[in-house]
Amino acid sequence: MAKETILVIEDEKNIVELVKYNLEREGFAVQTALRGDAGLEEARKQKANLIILDLMLPEMDGLEICRILKQDSKTAGIPIIMLTAKAEVTDQVVGLELGADDYVTKPFSPKELVARVRAVLRRVKSKPKEEILRGGHLEVDTARHIVSLKGKPLELTSKEFDLLKALMEAGGRVLSREYLLEHVWGYEQSLNVETRTVDMHIGQLRKKLKSEEHRVVTVKNAGYRFDDKA
Ligand code: CA
Repeated sequence: MAKETILVIEDEKNIVELVKYNLEREGFAVQTALRGDAGLEEARKQKANLIILDLMLPEMDGLEICRILKQDSKTAGIPIIMLTAKAEVTDQVVGLELGADDYVTKPFSPKELVARVRAVLRRVKSKPKEEILRGGHLEVDTARHIVSLKGKPLELTSKEFDLLKALMEAGGRVLSREYLLEHVWGYEQSLNVETRTVDMHIGQLRKKLKSEEHRVVTVKNAGYRFDDKA
């Protein structure tokens, strides 16, 4: 079996050496980057199965790197373990919100770090493979709840996201307002929601889709469909 590769982005050489030594001893291949930009470059080559990312880096900090990695469809799927100082609780929270998978606080024992690496890799493997829906210049990463237009993320509410996802998954079929209410709002709740609500949310969604708004097509007396050829 090929070795799993871990990319370590950290500017403190002694920590890099310590982590590298311990991971290699456990059978991992290790790549290292002492700077954020170099780390991003390595990550984009897509060889790493997991990234260990220090938050305190000169110039570009770890949170910024995490944000960039998770917004790029090429690297969004690579799990990240952050290294943080004990006091940086807010950074840990922000990091997890940005999509990091776990964090380890400094000082840490190499043994603990290796155990976390194994745990995250196990978790990622047992997760269903992420699914990307595409239509025109739109890309919907259903696992990570990210919609992007020409590679730039769009800010949709969760309802708008679910609506778009349902329409794209239908592959051009027309979905009625009742169907959308049931599947996007949930059956119980849909009993108290008017079909007009769907139209309102579709209107908001179209606005946010900008140049791709025409893909959400109104079908008279029937509902809505997604047109990926228009
Ligand atoms: Ca550092």
